[in-house]
Amino acid sequence: MIDRNANVLLMYTGGTIGMVENADTGALEPFNFSHLYANMPEIKRLKFNVESYLFDPPIDSSDMSPSIWQHIVHVIENHYNEFDGFVILHGTDTMAYTASALSLMLDNLTKPVILTGSQLPIGKLRTDGKENLITALEIAADKDATGHPIVPEVCVYMQNLLMRGNRTAKINANNFSAFTSPNYPYLGEAGLNIRYSDQFILRPDYDKAVNFNYAMDPHMVILKLFPGITEEVVRAHLTIPGLKGVVLETYGTGNCPIYPWFTDLLYDAIERGVVIVNVTQCLYGGVEMHRYENGQRLEKLGAASGYDITTEAALAKLMILFGEGRAPAEVNRLVSVSLRGELTIRG
Ligand code: ASP
Repeated sequence: MIDRNANVLLMYTGGTIGMVENADTGALEPFNFSHLYANMPEIKRLKFNVESYLFDPPIDSSDMSPSIWQHIVHVIENHYNEFDGFVILHGTDTMAYTASALSLMLDNLTKPVILTGSQLPIGKLRTDGKENLITALEIAADKDATGHPIVPEVCVYMQNLLMRGNRTAKINANNFSAFTSPNYPYLGEAGLNIRYSDQFILRPDYDKAVNFNYAMDPHMVILKLFPGITEEVVRAHLTIPGLKGVVLETYGTGNCPIYPWFTDLLYDAIERGVVIVNVTQCLYGGVEMHRYENGQRLEKLGAASGYDITTEAALAKLMILFGEGRAPAEVNRLVSVSLRGELTIRG
């Protein structure tokens, strides 16, 4: 149901969707937001109001940072009562990180926050940006028969798929279908109509206020295991001054080497209060540390299971939980708990 009185705030952070080609170098560069309107007069034909907010300067999402996440949350908080939904135009490269962080920074969210972007600039004839943008705006404005938004969640909408933001991963550098939600069903699909899968969508408590959380601690690292990884490499990661959390990308169901130097380094880090979250390098499925001896070793050392969480969501979760000033034991417990539907506990 499209609400003719609905208001949607369209936030432009940057990314290909609003980029133009530099005539001299041929490189894509962020351009001015008015470019988007010039290329998309269709926005004016929607049956609801769209207002815009420009991040200045617009960035390639490779330059995304926790302070820009805080800026985004600030804009949403400042305009929360005026708008029924929010669409964030964002580069695809780090969209899954931003969607994960926002989902955890916006507690008891009662309005849609839809991230979208494109693989081709909106000014190009074959752009995927127009459909992504128009449908994202419609989803942000959509309400059910009771007047509540249909998707009061932080989502990514790309190439016909509506996904829980903290479940997404960018899986293709070239194709229009650049994202998937490997371990959680799509929240909706756009064809002739937008079909929502209500049973998979989170429901907030409409009697409670939204909590806008700005806490953020960036002292985290992602450590991906590989055969031949050396003691120096692991030591260098685990002894970074001020380190608080590690997203440890392990093999299969959460397995790691059991060389003494490896377990000793992990043990020392955990003893110093560093929280180690075990996530799998596999795109599909999750961690079950008890399955193999090599996984059990990690469990005994005190690493936390991230179950089927993505690396992107695990990283954002560590930043936010530590940012809130929580003690390592509490962070260690909460990373294995689903806070916004970012993981499913199995096994
Ligand atoms: N490099 C761009 C970015 O992430 C790619 C894109 O927009 O999809 O900002």
